[in-house]
Amino acid sequence: MSGDAAPLEGVVADRTRSEERDERVLNGIGVAPGIAIGPACLYAASGEPDEVEARSLSGEETVGEEVERFEEAVGRAEDELDTVISITRQKLGEESAGIFEAQRLMLRDEALYEAVVERIRSEAVNAGFAIEAVMREHRQRIEAGPSDYLRERAADLADVQHRLVRHLRREHLLASVEPGSVVVAEDLSAADVVLFSRRRLRGFAIDRGGATTHVSIIARALGVPTVAGLGDATGPIESGDPVVLDGLRGEVVVRPTEARRERYHARRARYQRQRDEQKNLASLPSETCDGHAVRLSANVEFSQEVRLLDECGAKGIGLFRTEMLLMMRGDVTLSAESTFETYKDVVEHTAPQPTTIRLLDLGGDKMLPMAHREDNPFLGWRGIRVLLDKPEILKTQLRAILRASAFGPVRILVPMITQLEEIRRVRAFLEKVKGELRAEGTDFDEDVPVGIMVEVPAVALQAGPFAEAADFFSIGTNDLTQYVLATDRGNDLVAGGYSEFHPAVLTLIKRIASAARAAEIPVSVCGEMAGDARATPLLVGLGIDELSASPTYLPEIKRVVRAMDQSEARALAGSALSMQSAEEVTARVDEWLRARAADIMRFLDADAETTAPATEATAPAKEERPMPEPAPNAEEL
Ligand code: PEP
Ligand code: MG
Repeated sequence: MSGDAAPLEGVVADRTRSEERDERVLNGIGVAPGIAIGPACLYAASGEPDEVEARSLSGEETVGEEVERFEEAVGRAEDELDTVISITRQKLGEESAGIFEAQRLMLRDEALYEAVVERIRSEAVNAGFAIEAVMREHRQRIEAGPSDYLRERAADLADVQHRLVRHLRREHLLASVEPGSVVVAEDLSAADVVLFSRRRLRGFAIDRGGATTHVSIIARALGVPTVAGLGDATGPIESGDPVVLDGLRGEVVVRPTEARRERYHARRARYQRQRDEQKNLASLPSETCDGHAVRLSANVEFSQEVRLLDECGAKGIGLFRTEMLLMMRGDVTLSAESTFETYKDVVEHTAPQPTTIRLLDLGGDKMLPMAHREDNPFLGWRGIRVLLDKPEILKTQLRAILRASAFGPVRILVPMITQLEEIRRVRAFLEKVKGELRAEGTDFDEDVPVGIMVEVPAVALQAGPFAEAADFFSIGTNDLTQYVLATDRGNDLVAGGYSEFHPAVLTLIKRIASAARAAEIPVSVCGEMAGDARATPLLVGLGIDELSASPTYLPEIKRVVRAMDQSEARALAGSALSMQSAEEVTARVDEWLRARAADIMRFLDADAETTAPATEATAPAKEERPMPEPAPNAEEL
């Protein structure tokens, strides 16, 4: 990215020069749904730790006193993290609290602690400078190292550094934000989000990040509307500016016009009403008008989220991502017992509906539990490739899943399958583990189905033989799209070219669905596309019978399902397959939905009520959002 810094700087400078005090619309990624309206509160902490000037200690400031100040700051930071840990444990569960426990340990890490004390003593400098210097050196060493996992830890270290310096200054995090405001920040730490949640903040607008960062995951789990990846919200927004934030559309409007503010109040009321109606909706069948059932299941990352299944009308878990268990714990060792306990809890809660547990999908954008660096991690050692090379990790999980299968229906989902041989090897390994459990007399379900993530184009192209080898398919549209379009799913600079609505992606989905039908195995979609209500008619029309998405999105999806005919959806999908671009498909789908599910479209597209021509009023689809650079006319609306 560094090579492109100059043009981006130019944009920022231009924007600063032409900054006006009238309305501005900023586009990012909606990472936690909901609508927040309130005054902005600019929060200064950023990914870069505060600078602290070096100061030689004068006569009155003895070295001993400075060391004491440092020790007190460590004590206060510990108290604060204890609070974060207890709130997190209470609201989100044990595994999420793990990330903060790791940070708490860093505070007393001998190498760091002693180095700071030593620096204060030997150089007779202020504690702030010593903390900065020691932590910075340590972070730089880690960041330069070959391990992705350790680089993740460098981010934790930066959080710890911030926290210590703030406590040294005796600044309170919560004192710096106004209750009832929308926090606007360049970056936030996951701990900040947890602490802020006590201040009844209305939302978070963050320059950096994307849907899968810790911050986004925590904000979503806490139910605080959040837009991330805004690029430069902190530029045009000032504290006190009125702001509306739309966590569904990924939009932040600063200094909204009176008319827009009114529309957003109405939209928020509608959103609230929809949420209230959710309860009634949860008990209604997920069925098209012409009687075709579409199963809706949940994507879950924390065991705590299983509470949401019933209220959102989820029929089981279609994707339990297990990487978060490791990432949140900040610990790379996979404890057999705690893995089993977590799986068992989730399976018991979800029974009699099935829980689909995905084997660890390490590598790519997720950490690897060993020092390792690759030029092309998304094309490298990830998913099942890692597990087959590290049988001890595979075995721990398979044992835990099989043991959990004694407590409710379970399905095993294998990530990043590319070769048929990989499925055969997993099955053989599974049989070995079953044999061991039998010999021990441990109960498990002998018929646990083994399905595969279809996220590599090769599998889609050879879907027939793969459908014969697997018990079910789950289409990972996030990866499938990035591989089909050769467009990094996490790179802001090419986000405009990333779209699941691209006819090439749709063609592969159709192919996968047809192969599954021919082999009589279930097929679902579990990528972000499944949670996008705009994609529902396309997916159903392409032959997908199950959608698995974050539970909060399911009521909206069900509404769309109940407002359409399967036969018409098929015709829509058929026409989309012959189109030439994602934009063409998106426009057609919006038009189609507007005619059939007007209430949904009004909701998805707040500006449908404006006087703009209907076809122009469409909210930019996720893939069209200009990031990080705002399109000039996006501000006009
Ligand atoms: C996907 O690739 O669509 C998917 C669901 O897996 P992940 O996002 O965890 O890679
Ligand atoms: Mg994937």
